[in-house]
Amino acid sequence: MIKFSVARLDKEPIELAGSEPAEFLGLASGDVYSAASSVDYDLLVSRVSGGALVSGSCRVTIAGECGRCLAPVEREIAAENIELFIALPQTAEEIDISEDIRSEVLLELPMILLCKEDCRGLCPRCGADLNRCKCGCSGTPGGALAWGELDKLNL
Ligand SMILES: [Zn+2]
Ligand SMILES: [Zn+2]
Repeated sequence: MIKFSVARLDKEPIELAGSEPAEFLGLASGDVYSAASSVDYDLLVSRVSGGALVSGSCRVTIAGECGRCLAPVEREIAAENIELFIALPQTAEEIDISEDIRSEVLLELPMILLCKEDCRGLCPRCGADLNRCKCGCSGTPGGALAWGELDKLNL
């Protein structure tokens, strides 16, 4: 849980640095990738009029298969410029900002994981990895266009 004490915040800004287990992100096992590291955060909470301002960054490594060629991929995802206003309820002693931080990281996650932006994927006809070799059937001109068509079908 990522939380801070309101009484302490009234005296001084609070530095929150630490890590949460990979499960913190709540990615389901059926998702195209999973969290492969702890979720590390480095935040500063300051008192501002009417509430608290949370700023800082949060990062996690995700792992899965490339959405085109199925190669294993690991990538660090970072929410670098977190700036969140948190309203402080009158009576609260501690404020839990886990959900707020979790949402910030989820925003940075890609729809699909690619080993590289221009991954050529697998040949739809013979299954060859087109990043490594040209198969017999990929010699058709206008290959890039063909891939654009294929991407539309995958949606
Ligand atoms: Zn790939
Ligand atoms: Zn082929």
